[in-house]
Amino acid sequence: MLSNDCIFCKIIKGEIPSTKVYEDDKMLVFKDIEPKARVHLLAVAKTHFKLLEEANAEGRGLVDYMLFKIPEIARQNGCENGYRLIINQGADAGQTVFHLHIHILGGKELPW
Ligand code: AMP
Ligand code: ZN
Repeated sequence: MLSNDCIFCKIIKGEIPSTKVYEDDKMLVFKDIEPKARVHLLAVAKTHFKLLEEANAEGRGLVDYMLFKIPEIARQNGCENGYRLIINQGADAGQTVFHLHIHILGGKELPW
């Protein structure tokens, strides 16, 4: 289920433009509009929920599917030497978009 007032749901529906790098029936990967690394992609499942703990069975399956697909997508988009995945969860993590998303960061050695 997608939401009517979520920016990432609007991107999934094509109502807001994005630079897509991968799409199938379960997930979309697009470039972050304010990149924090040479490569900064966002992977979103095509269903709306905010937190891992709010995922129903379908949502958990989609998270599992995204983690399975991300290595190949990262490699094909400039992260041949590695990448970092980040899932911000809630206020203290600075989550600003309340549609679960996986940041894919790489393209160059990342500071820790
Ligand atoms: P988070 O802080 O984990 O909620 O991350 C949200 C991310 O979404 C930030 O890195 C933003 O730069 C990114 N973002 C927000 N709006 C857009 C958009 N329209 N297209 C692409 N990325 C976006
Ligand atoms: Zn959404």
